[in-house]
Amino acid sequence: MKFTILLLLTFSTLSLSRYVSIESHEEIGDMIFPKGHAPNSIGSGNGILKNRNAITWKTSYWTNGKVPYYISSGFDLTEEFLIMDALNEMEFATDFCIDFYRIYDYEADFLRSNNEAFISVRKHKEECSSFIGRVEPDQVLYLANWCVNSKQAIKHEFMHALGFFHEQNRIDRDKFVTIHYENMQPGMERQFGVFPGITTSKYDTKSVMHYGPYSGSKNGEAVMTPKNPNDQIINYGYLSPLDIEDIRKAYKCY
Ligand SMILES: [Zn+2]
Repeated sequence: MKFTILLLLTFSTLSLSRYVSIESHEEIGDMIFPKGHAPNSIGSGNGILKNRNAITWKTSYWTNGKVPYYISSGFDLTEEFLIMDALNEMEFATDFCIDFYRIYDYEADFLRSNNEAFISVRKHKEECSSFIGRVEPDQVLYLANWCVNSKQAIKHEFMHALGFFHEQNRIDRDKFVTIHYENMQPGMERQFGVFPGITTSKYDTKSVMHYGPYSGSKNGEAVMTPKNPNDQIINYGYLSPLDIEDIRKAYKCY
């Protein structure tokens, strides 16, 4: 499977003069960036290219926490319900700091014609992926069959769309987890890079944005282990208290 958010577990404004085409993008795991704007890891551990001129990603947040989303055809009613239910839970958990509101064909056409951003949730054969933050009109958020039935996976992708990276990409992650490159499938190193500019609260091994300990393993051994033996990398399908704090801080709900 190409995309490995593997939920078995358990920056100012983007400086684009105008929106870019959705065909023109690059990906780090399930995180989508406009081509040429994917951040480079500043280097950590083995196997990661060090780059002194790292591109940093500046997240554009959604204005006043209002996030229009459109569910394209291809999802059945049960799937639509799961998507809406997952988003309702996120709204509720953040004490309505975020307002996901569903739009339909007419409103989507209107926003598109006015060059205004909204999330277009689309079915994909294999990918579950999203842009980071508000990027462009009609910006895709892909859900495949294997993840649309998981509210945890839906929340994970929508947290990307709210502007968040994976937790293990934080610049301070080496203080909290050990990355075992010797157990990692080749080619996944970039997904375990550290990217400057990610501003969140404390490191959180319970985050819905943290890869599971075995994500990307080539041999069944853990790819990540917590430094603190009393800690655990796990998520139960809900936003963690620190996920909620991160969202509420980013969207100025305090
Ligand atoms: Zn992800």
